[in-house]
Amino acid sequence: MELYKLSAIGLRNIFFKKNISAKEIVKYFINRIEKKDEKLKSIISLLKNRAEKKADILDKKISKNEPLGKLAGIPIIVKDNINIKNEITTCGSKFLKNYRSLFDASVIKFLDEEDAIIIAKSNLDEFAMGSSNEHSAFFKTCNPWNLKCVPGGSSGGSAAAVAARLSPISIGSDTGGSIRQPAAFCGIVGFKPTYGRVSRYGLVAFASSLDQIGPMATNVMDMALTMEVLENRCFKDSTNLRLPFENYTSNLLESLEGLKIGVPWDIFKNVDQNIYNNFKNSIEVLKSLKAEIISVELNILKYSTNVYYILSPAEAATNLARFDGIKYGVRSKGKTLDDIYDLSRDEGFGEEVKRRIMLGTFILSSGFKYYQKAQKVRTLIIRDFEETFKKCDLIALPTTPSSAFKIDSIKDPVTMYLQDSFTIPANMAGLPAISVPSGFDEQRKPLGIQFMGPQLHDALVIKAGYAFEREVKYSFMIPPIFDEE
Ligand code: GLN
Repeated sequence: MELYKLSAIGLRNIFFKKNISAKEIVKYFINRIEKKDEKLKSIISLLKNRAEKKADILDKKISKNEPLGKLAGIPIIVKDNINIKNEITTCGSKFLKNYRSLFDASVIKFLDEEDAIIIAKSNLDEFAMGSSNEHSAFFKTCNPWNLKCVPGGSSGGSAAAVAARLSPISIGSDTGGSIRQPAAFCGIVGFKPTYGRVSRYGLVAFASSLDQIGPMATNVMDMALTMEVLENRCFKDSTNLRLPFENYTSNLLESLEGLKIGVPWDIFKNVDQNIYNNFKNSIEVLKSLKAEIISVELNILKYSTNVYYILSPAEAATNLARFDGIKYGVRSKGKTLDDIYDLSRDEGFGEEVKRRIMLGTFILSSGFKYYQKAQKVRTLIIRDFEETFKKCDLIALPTTPSSAFKIDSIKDPVTMYLQDSFTIPANMAGLPAISVPSGFDEQRKPLGIQFMGPQLHDALVIKAGYAFEREVKYSFMIPPIFDEE
């Protein structure tokens, strides 16, 4: 049976009907990873024993007709900056190459409770800092649509794996776009929930006021189902909102009638022509679904990336201070304590992480003038969004300013930082945002459209994504070289 072609829900349903056992599902997907990931390089560790044990439990449960969870029998790949007890959590860094987690992140507990089968951990830019997966300390993941190109980042491993159908669902984290940008580059769906909706307990922190865990899937419905599991309440994360449970999978819209979608046309000045044309076509699709399209200003968006590169390195420098060679991971040999700190950091961290730590340390030691100013601009961004959402229900933007670029083609860090100009604003204001496949450029590389909504309106954002996906159907396309057993 060609299991790779099934959606997560499709796979779960044949498991429920006892047409296939959990053991067979695990065998099939582990085998697929072993065979296909040689080209793709999206996986850091394969959790074969863990997955087989879980499959045994599920097969016993089903044979006794015991109740099964929402994600029963669905293989899931998790970004390697999320802790799974007794498994290695590298964060894509040499520093943690042998670090074994002592506890489960809350999202892992939630996935387990709903009977998902976690089968592997995926590659990422070191400590989630990057937009291409080229900053992983281990290897560079390729884009399944074009192996010479990057899959995006930092959740590039999670995106590439799902696009190549190594699992139907994966989990990523998004600080400035790390779920949505790789989702767009790889032609899959990625969702960053409202800040605080999903627990961050057990996610290795990059910039705590921006980080958010979210699901990645081949289609919106599977993603929505995963959200229903991830958003469980958590008392171990003080920023967790502990909201009433949403039902993301029912009442999904097929028409967008009555919905006002704002487009900040001004930001298109320096955008690649392919992106602009594709976005304009997507707007026509939204109109055909009866959405009302209005122009909005949002001039403040142009400062988002600048503000992000003040606040996020400041938070990162603080968060990464715990990696000192004593508490976690690698300890280098040194004569004095200071030597141990210095050498461990020097040998453990890669270039990009060092750059961010230096930048953040500079920002925090120059008398708060940059940090405070950036916080003020962040408040203006939040207010501007609030004003804009008085005029429209959602905002639409392309997810990325270009399609996937060639591996090793961007050498300059600032050019790389600009990759996230369209995704960072949602993190700045804590907004929910989805990226849905919107077609291809001239070289057959995928593109994505992004819908952002007001805080807590995650369900509306998902509904819009669903209606768009049903109309265009790009989510259901499989990269040709991976469209075989
Ligand atoms: N690419 C952005 C950065 O390098 C965002 C990363 C992320 O969302 N984790 O910081």
